[in-house]
Amino acid sequence: MIVLYVFAGVLAVLLLLVGIAVLRTLCTPKKSSPWTPSSDAARERTYAELLAKMVQYETVSHKGQIQREKFLGFHRVLEELFPLVHRNLEKNEIDGSLLFHWKGKSGERPVVLMGHQDVVPAEGEWQHPPFSGDIEDGKVWGRGSADTKCSVMAFFEAVEELLAEGYVPEQDVYLSASNTEEIGGDGCPKLVRELENRGVKPFLVNDEGGSVVTEPMAGIKGNFAMIGVLEKGQGNLQIAARSGGGHSSYPPKNSPIVRLSKFICELDRHSPMRSRMNRQAEEMFEKMAPYGPFWMRLLFGNLWLFRPLLVALMPSISPQAAALLRTTVAPTMQTGSDGCNVLPQEATVTLNLRFIPHQDMEESVAAVRKIAEKYDLEVRVLDAYPSCEPVDSNSEAFRLIEEVVGEVFPGLPVIPYVMTGGTDARFYQRICPDCIRFSPVVYGPAQMKGMHGLNENLDTNSLPGAVDYYKTLIRKNR
Ligand SMILES: [Zn+2]
Repeated sequence: MIVLYVFAGVLAVLLLLVGIAVLRTLCTPKKSSPWTPSSDAARERTYAELLAKMVQYETVSHKGQIQREKFLGFHRVLEELFPLVHRNLEKNEIDGSLLFHWKGKSGERPVVLMGHQDVVPAEGEWQHPPFSGDIEDGKVWGRGSADTKCSVMAFFEAVEELLAEGYVPEQDVYLSASNTEEIGGDGCPKLVRELENRGVKPFLVNDEGGSVVTEPMAGIKGNFAMIGVLEKGQGNLQIAARSGGGHSSYPPKNSPIVRLSKFICELDRHSPMRSRMNRQAEEMFEKMAPYGPFWMRLLFGNLWLFRPLLVALMPSISPQAAALLRTTVAPTMQTGSDGCNVLPQEATVTLNLRFIPHQDMEESVAAVRKIAEKYDLEVRVLDAYPSCEPVDSNSEAFRLIEEVVGEVFPGLPVIPYVMTGGTDARFYQRICPDCIRFSPVVYGPAQMKGMHGLNENLDTNSLPGAVDYYKTLIRKNR
């Protein structure tokens, strides 16, 4: 009898809480995001042509190669396109990576505008050849048009235009563009070391990462400035299974590939990674919720009640949602024996991990190791780095970015964003706590598909806003 009373009591409290959440949601008006890029044919054309020339020069980076000569060729393209930048700024070239210094009236609050020169290879059948830089159907086509020659073009052009006006910045400005971002190379670390040697402590670093995203979550209509504030860590593990090899005509139980397969299946079925909604993910959902349908406003707008439910359900709803809440593990490469009738003496599988702060590098690797031991497997850490310290969305630097977005893109909501990919900005973390990841261009579905894929492109009506964004940022950093 008592059990029944307790049960009824708990149920009544739960219903009451849900009732409060429903009432709160009904009383909070739904918001909408009205901003869309306006068109300015003349400026679009000018900027599209600049970007097209940058796309036409192929800058694919390859692991283990410095390719300085190739990038020096790209620098000559930049010199032609942005003559005032090259005449007035101090240029530093380190093994093909670039650092420009524009001296301001003060060196107290330097700002670093950054992107990368290199692009990933372009395979497959493209609608427009990948290095054509074709301007057609309101888009610039080609590898690098969206990732991320667009932002490099925009900040070079912003400085070029300000120089043409005779403008002198209040604060020092640095332009930074490595040539090894796509291969995780040491281009950017070299630039950071150079700044460190000069004793420069940036007030703000603005790299790629987030962008103006159309419909960032199914059901959230319109455009949103998704500002990257948290970057996950990353590591590659090679898991090896050994045996004495032998002929495949009398295979033993639990040969290397069998053990590896069991291991992978266990990882896939029962992830050892803990899901949790960290402060940054929470803020992202809370700020996005008011723009969604009722159920989204109810669930994400009342995390005080629904947080445990969402943490439990989200990983099974979508891989993207799971990646926001926990360390991810992706098997990416495999090796076995050299012959189809030979048992391998050693078989391996490579795992790519993306670490979340609440279960960072060491703890995540240990969790994988524990399962590997069950199957008598060896774990080798090929390379790994932990997650970055998150940017505080109340910091002065973040608020400046919010102000700039408000001025250049009126009505565009600003949402702090948890990134699942990596950027060069992580190298700057050492000398700057506010490394903000945001490219001021619109990434709609067509751009998302093209990034590192086929038919990469960027809408030309994105470009004037991007140039204005960097000009406004330089002007407002006083
Ligand atoms: Zn990129």
